[in-house]
Amino acid sequence: METSLNTVYDSVIIHFSGELWLKKLWTRKYYEKRLARNLKQTLKHYNVPYSELVRRHGRFYLKTDSAVEAANKLARVFGISSVSPAAETSSKLDEIIEKSLFLAGILLKAGNTFAVKCKRVGKQGYSSSDVRKLLGQRVLDEFGEKLGLRVDLGNPDVVLGVEVRDNQAFVYSQVIEAVGGMPLGVQPKLVGLFSGGIDSPVGCWLVMKRGSPVVFVYFDNSPFTDETTTQRALNVAEVLFGWAIGFPRKVYVVQHGENLKQIMQTNRKYSCLLCKRMMYRVAERLAEQLRAEGIVTGEAIGEQASQTVTNLRVLNAAVKEYPVHRPLLGFDKQETEAIARKIGTYEVSSKKAGACTAVPYQPSTKAKMEDVLKAEEKLDIEAMVNRSLESIKIVEL
Ligand code: ATP
Ligand code: MG
Repeated sequence: METSLNTVYDSVIIHFSGELWLKKLWTRKYYEKRLARNLKQTLKHYNVPYSELVRRHGRFYLKTDSAVEAANKLARVFGISSVSPAAETSSKLDEIIEKSLFLAGILLKAGNTFAVKCKRVGKQGYSSSDVRKLLGQRVLDEFGEKLGLRVDLGNPDVVLGVEVRDNQAFVYSQVIEAVGGMPLGVQPKLVGLFSGGIDSPVGCWLVMKRGSPVVFVYFDNSPFTDETTTQRALNVAEVLFGWAIGFPRKVYVVQHGENLKQIMQTNRKYSCLLCKRMMYRVAERLAEQLRAEGIVTGEAIGEQASQTVTNLRVLNAAVKEYPVHRPLLGFDKQETEAIARKIGTYEVSSKKAGACTAVPYQPSTKAKMEDVLKAEEKLDIEAMVNRSLESIKIVEL
C-alpha cells in the first residue's frame, strides 16, 4: 500500500508542539527557525529528498515525493506534535473531492467505517461543513455499495482529512503522533553524566526533549570496570544521537580509575559518594569550559545507596556554581524503563557489561557531611580533577 500512497502523497503536514503556541511571537519565531533547521538536517541525514519546507498558518508544509518516509523520520524531531503525509490540491472544491476520492479508493476496504474531517482557513465560498457533507456523500456514492461502507464519526476505520488554507488544500488520512517537546537547541547545553546504564540516557533524553543539547561525559572506571562498559556507553550514545541530528556526535571519555583507586584508600563506605563527587567536580569544570549551563544525571530518589535524599545533598555540595538537574528524581524504575524502551536505549543499555567492582559491600545511605569532608582531606582533590580533565579523550561517533 505504501507505494500506491507514495504516488498520491506529495507533502507532509507538520504540526508544532502545542506549547510553542503559548510563547510570545518573537520567542516563537526563534523556536520555529531552530525547528526548521533541525527538520532540514534530519531529512539531509536520512537522504530524504524534498523541494521545499514552508511555514504557513502555524504549520510547516514539506514538499516531497517520499512523504511517508519523511513523516516517519520527522516524527522523532523534538518540537513536533504530529505529522501527516498529504496530497496537495488547489482549494477548488471539485479538485479536493477528486483527490480525496482517489485517496479513499486506495485506503477503503470492504466493511470499513469512515469519517470526513475538514479544517479551513481563508475565503473559498464554501464552509468546512459543506466539504464534510459533499465528500461524505461522494464517497458513499462511489464506494458505499461496492464495499459496504458505513459512516462512523466516533471511531472510524478510515479518516479522510481535508485542510484548506487560502487557495491551497491538503488531503490526508493518517495523523502520526510525534515526540513533542521543544526544538533541540532553544535552550543552552548541559553536561550529561552518562554511564550508558538504563537511567542516565533517559535523564539526558528528557532534557534534550525540552531543548537542551547534551554533552555526553562518560567516566571510564577501569580497572574496576572493563571495555564492555565503555563500549556499551558508546553504543547507547549512538542511539541518542539519533534524537539529536545536526548536533555534535561526541562522547567525552574521562579516565577515572586512578582516582577511584585513591578513593578506595579512604573510608570504604563512602567510596561511591566520593567517586560521584569527583565526577560532579569534573563535570562542573567541563561545563565552565564548554559554556554549558548545568549538569544532568540519571539519579532518582533512593534508587541506589548514593541516591538517598541525604546523600544527594552530600553530592550537591561538591559543585559550587552549576546546578545538577535530575529529571528522573521522582520516577519509579518501571517508569524510567518505559521511556528507555520508547526511545530505543533500553535494549542497548541492558546488554551485559562489566559492573563496577569498587562498590563496597555496605555503602552508606546516610552520609555525614563532616565525615565525607574528613575522608576527602586524605585526597589531593584539585590534582585529581586536573588529571581527569587532562585524560579526556573525545570519541566521535
Ligand atoms: P545509571 O542507570 O544511569 O547507570 P545507576 O542507577 O547505576 O545509574 P549510579 O551508579 O548511582 O546509578 O549513578 C548515578 C548517576 O551518576 C548516573 O545516573 C549517571 O548520571 C552518573 N554516573 C554513574 N556512573 C557514571 C559513569 N561511569 N560515567 C558518567 N556518569 C556516571
Ligand atoms: Mg540508576
